[in-house]
Amino acid sequence: MSERITIKSQSQLDKMRVAGRLVGETLNYLEGLVKVGITTYELDREAEAFIRKNGGIPSFLNYEGFPASICTSINEVVVHGIPSKKVKLKEGDIVSIDCGAIVDGWHGDAARTFLVGEVKPEVQKLVKVTEECFFLGAEQAIAGNHLVDIARAVETHAKEYGYGVVRDMVGHGIGCNMHEPPEVPNYVDPRMGRGVRLYEGMTIAIEPMITLGTWRIKIAADGWTCTTADGSPASHYENTIIVGKNSPEVLTLVK
Ligand code: MG
Ligand code: MG
Repeated sequence: MSERITIKSQSQLDKMRVAGRLVGETLNYLEGLVKVGITTYELDREAEAFIRKNGGIPSFLNYEGFPASICTSINEVVVHGIPSKKVKLKEGDIVSIDCGAIVDGWHGDAARTFLVGEVKPEVQKLVKVTEECFFLGAEQAIAGNHLVDIARAVETHAKEYGYGVVRDMVGHGIGCNMHEPPEVPNYVDPRMGRGVRLYEGMTIAIEPMITLGTWRIKIAADGWTCTTADGSPASHYENTIIVGKNSPEVLTLVK
């Protein structure tokens, strides 16, 4: 991780737009493949092929030893689920797919939580509110605000529904590294104060991780798989954005 928060130049932002678009397109492509019976391994193979075919490099592959190109996190898995030939999507599952790509040295990073078949209404609601948390947080990503404004917006919305807001995993700066300072928490930590001030041209990934139960997580023996401590379902939604003067620019959402 580089040590400093960076403001990107216009030409750097243009490169991040290209990388972000590819990540958004990859997630759209994967959304079309999510169905009962597909393995998370197949989703991973499709993701890597799609990213490479379109001129990118999957940034998760071998990142600190991660063995795949996407994270596939089902139900109580919050993040960092490892794709597997043994894991098939089942009716009623929710699956978070987290995806990153590098194009011309610049990164995009985003995640969606998809419904598999008919999902319990309370879990559908969790998925919808998690997306809302992202957009409410992102609205605060404007010059002159501080990190705490993003955190407060995410946390306040989730707590209205009594949901858990994961604390031990956070959003992050992004650029020519996938993870750069600052950390972008989804809850107000009194120790952070207001957090750093936001400037136009900062690029960050905002990624609420919200649960139907506790905010506490545990990490499995594989060193990656992060689940809720109480086994409750978790949802994850992420985009890479540029801090703007009046509104953020979302780079990884392709309509
Ligand atoms: Mg991220
Ligand atoms: Mg991500």
